[in-house]
Amino acid sequence: MFRLLVMRGFALLLLAAPAAGAVEEALPNESAAHLSTLGRKPDWSELDKYQATITHDEFVQLFRQIYATRGCNPDLIKVELDVARILTAAETQNYFVLHFAKGEADRRPVPRWWAVPGALPNEARTAGPLAGFHIALDPGHLGGTWAQMEERWFRIGDAPPVEEGNMTLQVARLLKPRLQSLGAKVSLVREKAEPVTPYRPSDFEEIARQLLLRTGVKDARENFDGPADPEKEQTIAWQRELLFYRNSEIRRRASVINHRLQPDLVLCLHFNAEPWGDPHHP
Ligand SMILES: [Zn+2]
Repeated sequence: MFRLLVMRGFALLLLAAPAAGAVEEALPNESAAHLSTLGRKPDWSELDKYQATITHDEFVQLFRQIYATRGCNPDLIKVELDVARILTAAETQNYFVLHFAKGEADRRPVPRWWAVPGALPNEARTAGPLAGFHIALDPGHLGGTWAQMEERWFRIGDAPPVEEGNMTLQVARLLKPRLQSLGAKVSLVREKAEPVTPYRPSDFEEIARQLLLRTGVKDARENFDGPADPEKEQTIAWQRELLFYRNSEIRRRASVINHRLQPDLVLCLHFNAEPWGDPHHP
C-alpha cells in the first residue's frame, strides 16, 4: 500500500513534466510487478530537471500532506537535510538523488509549459479575460455504444437511458464557444462518443489473465453474466474491458494532454451516472 502511494505520487510528478516525448504508441506487453496497472518503467532521469527546484521543507510538506498522507516506508524514500534519496529498484541500493534548493533565493525555476494567471501580459487581456489561455476540456467516459460496458449507463422505466459519456461531451460542446468568447483557446480531449486509446478489450486478454493470476485467481472464467454478476471481477472479460475503458483510456488522455495539447488548464467533466437503486430514495 505504501509503495503504491509513493508510485502514485511520482506518477503525478511525471505527468506534470514538460514534453519529454511523443504520445506513447506501444502497449506494454506485461503487467510489471510494483508498477500501477499498464504503467511503464520510470525513466528516472526525467526528474533531473527538478534538481534544486524545491526546498527541503516544501518537499516534506508536500510529501506528508499530499503524496503520502498515510506515511511511507523509509527504505523507499530517505529524506535528508540536503537531498531525498529515492530507491529506484527493489532489493538494490540504487537511488535517484534529488538535491534540494538551499533556500527560497537559490531555488531554480520549475520547468513547465503552462502559464499561471499572473504571468500573462496585461495587454493580452484586452482580447478577453481568458486571452492567452489554452484550456483543454476532457469529457469524462466514452458514452455511445460503450456506455453500458463502462457502467456509466442507467435508465428509469421507459425513459431514454442516462449516459454519462454523452452528457459530458454535450457539456464540453456547450462550454467551448463560451470560453472562446472570453478569449481562450479551447481543445477537446475527446470529440466524439469514442475512445481516445487505439486499443480495445481484446488487446488486454493476456494482461487481464496475468492480473487475475497475481491476485490468486487461477482458472478464471472467460465471461460474466451481465453487470449484476457478483463474481464478474474475477472474469477475464470484465478485467480486459476495465483495462480498456479505464486504464488504457485514461493513460492515453494524460499522454495526449501532456505531450500533444500542453494546455494551461484541464477541466475534466463528470457526472455520477450510475444506477442508484430506489429512485425515490437515491
Ligand atoms: Zn464520471
